[in-house]
Amino acid sequence: MENENAQVSRAEYEALRAERDQLLALLRALPDISFVIDTDGLYVRVIGGANETMYIDGKTLEGHTLHEALPAEIADRCLNLVHEAIRTGDLQTVEYPLRVSEVALLPDASRKGSKGEVEQWFEGRVIPLSPFDHPKPVALWVAVNITPRKQLEQYWREAAHTDSLTGVANRLRLFDRAHREVERAHRHGRPFCVLMIDFDHFKRINDHYGHATGDDALRAVTRACGEMLRDNDFMGRTGGEEFAVILPETDLEGARHTANRLLETVRTIQLPNAAPDLHLTISIGCARLQAGEGLDRLMRRADEHLYAAKAAGRDRCCGDCN
Ligand code: GH3
Ligand code: MG
Ligand code: MG
Repeated sequence: MENENAQVSRAEYEALRAERDQLLALLRALPDISFVIDTDGLYVRVIGGANETMYIDGKTLEGHTLHEALPAEIADRCLNLVHEAIRTGDLQTVEYPLRVSEVALLPDASRKGSKGEVEQWFEGRVIPLSPFDHPKPVALWVAVNITPRKQLEQYWREAAHTDSLTGVANRLRLFDRAHREVERAHRHGRPFCVLMIDFDHFKRINDHYGHATGDDALRAVTRACGEMLRDNDFMGRTGGEEFAVILPETDLEGARHTANRLLETVRTIQLPNAAPDLHLTISIGCARLQAGEGLDRLMRRADEHLYAAKAAGRDRCCGDCN
């Protein structure tokens, strides 16, 4: 009888072993890398990572701890998550940036050089495992390289806030920034000015030289003006051939100075190949934020001053600074 029991348990044992081997084979074949980590942060096992373009072979980590491998702050976060997964029994997830060069125990060949310095993003998925040959509780940490997704998110975030023709901020981003600056100016009682800019006779430029040259002119002007402005100043495209520059921490004298430099900068721009005899000018409306004023009213006043500059003959700045 005892013998028969032993035979059954051996069969069960073989079946369990086969199942374990199948699961391990599955993990090894998965593109993502998995770590079995215990409550001391020891890498008990490193499995998988078959996709070599996304993962470095982590076998050298086995037998070492998270704190030996990673910067202390990241190691602390990882270990906390392992404890949380084991304590709750629930799947824990985390997203974290990591450079290969930061993982001290990986082979030098992967860590050194510019590739090791590239920031990569990983999603950690952590679940408790039943330990079968280890004295401490363990968790399985599956690390998924999500760098391509993060890069795409970043690309679309940028695209949603950037004017594709000129590369400057679009209307959405400009107004978002302007709202925050107006709030800050009111809160701290600081000066704040806006310059509304419109190209002079731009329709004629398109008609005479063609739309593509018009586009070149828009790009040349935004590039030159961008180089001229201070770090704190912020330029955005508000519509067709209309732009605005917000000037935080700037009084009327500073705004007048900036407006004059913008006018001068645009006058000197040349497009020698496409339009050698083209003379570009802009008109500017300038408004200073008044006590209790909101952004909408400030922009409206700057716009009215812009129309006054047009009416007065163009290639000039009109407004609060005159
Ligand atoms: P004003 O001096 O009174 O401002 O005259 P204007 O011709 O500049 O004014 P208007 O508003 O009549 O014309 C603006 C022109 O700008 C018309 C439009 O085709 C052109 N425009 C708007 N956006 C673009 C663009 O992205 N590229 C090009 N090439 N032209 C554009
Ligand atoms: Mg216009
Ligand atoms: Mg115009």
